[in-house]
Order: sequence, then structure tokens, then C-alpha cells
Amino acid sequence: MGAMSDQSDSPLDLLWQEYGTIFRDFDDLSLARWMAQTLGQFKGRVWRYSHPLIGAYRLAAIQGHDRQIWLKRLVSSPHGYTEATCCRAPLLPLLTRDILETGLICQHCSGTAIEFADLPAELQAPLKQWAEEYAPVHAVAHWEDNRRKPIGNYDRAFEQAAVASEKLLGRFGRELVPKLLELYPTVVWEDQDECLEVRPEDIPL
Ligand SMILES: [Zn+2]
Repeated sequence: MGAMSDQSDSPLDLLWQEYGTIFRDFDDLSLARWMAQTLGQFKGRVWRYSHPLIGAYRLAAIQGHDRQIWLKRLVSSPHGYTEATCCRAPLLPLLTRDILETGLICQHCSGTAIEFADLPAELQAPLKQWAEEYAPVHAVAHWEDNRRKPIGNYDRAFEQAAVASEKLLGRFGRELVPKLLELYPTVVWEDQDECLEVRPEDIPL
């Protein structure tokens, strides 16, 4: 699914745009109700970004954002969700490996919903430690020739990095992301690393 960026014209993005046309046919009230009900059902657990329900919700969120659904106040925000300051939709944060730079990403407008520095210190510490452990592993995918050549067998280094990535992402989804449920009713995490070719199915929890 990649980062599922809304602008790209890659074949996969075009396919997702096609999937998303279903929500274009929803009127504003139906769309708002569908989103509010689905958010209610998400509550109380962490979700893989690759989960089909999250994928479906993301498509609805793109439509909802385009149509400013949450500003129209057609339905009340589902119980437990606060309003995101970025776009005033219910706060549904996404955690990614880039959390130190991007903070928590809003699933409605794709902007930063919460800066990393605004998280409680007791959550910042383990997340920072994890991200700093992950960064050099991820960097192997982007090594230039001057880093690759001395290694001799780059393919093996890449494969070792992918295995390390699977373990680290597993720990992320299993141990770290759930800690944020103390703050938010639902948390989504990116369960893949496209640069290291780590897929969701490579990360058992
Ligand atoms: Zn937002």
C-alpha cells in the first residue's frame, strides 16, 4: 500500500483512487455517519496500517477531508475521540518509523497531528530509543556505492537489515504503540518498510 500518497499516479495509487470512488457516492451525512461508526468500532486497540478496515477508513477520510465533513458537524465526534488541531477531525494518529521528525500523523489530513516534543516525556524516551535503533537499520537500504563496496556482499547486508527491521517493527507494534492507548482511543502504526522490502506479513505480532 506504500504511504498511499494521494497525489501520486503510480499504478497502485490509481487502484486505490478507484477503490475510493465508493465514498464519492455517499452524501455528506452518510459519509459522516459511516466514519463516526467505524471510529467507534476501532476504539480500544492498535491497528496495523495494512488492515483492510484502516485502508477503507483512509479512503473515506480522503473524501471527508476534501468535503470538510468534520467542519460541517453533521454527527457528533465518536465518544472518546478528541478533535485534532490540524483539521478538527477526530484525532486518529498514525505512528511511523519517522516519528521523531514527523510526530504523530493525522489520518484525515495527513499532516502532523501531534509533534513528537508534545508527547509525554515517559512516552518520548522509549519511542526515541526505538527510532534511533531503527534508523541505521533502515539506512542500509539507502547506502551509496561508497558504503556498499567495502561490505563486499551488499545483498547479504540488505537481507540482514530486513530481518532486523522485521524484529524491530514487531517490537514497535507489540510493545511501544499500545502505550499510546493511554492517550488516544485508537492508534494506527505503519507495519512495513518499503525501502527494505519488509511487508506486513513479514511482521508477526
Ligand atoms: Zn488533520
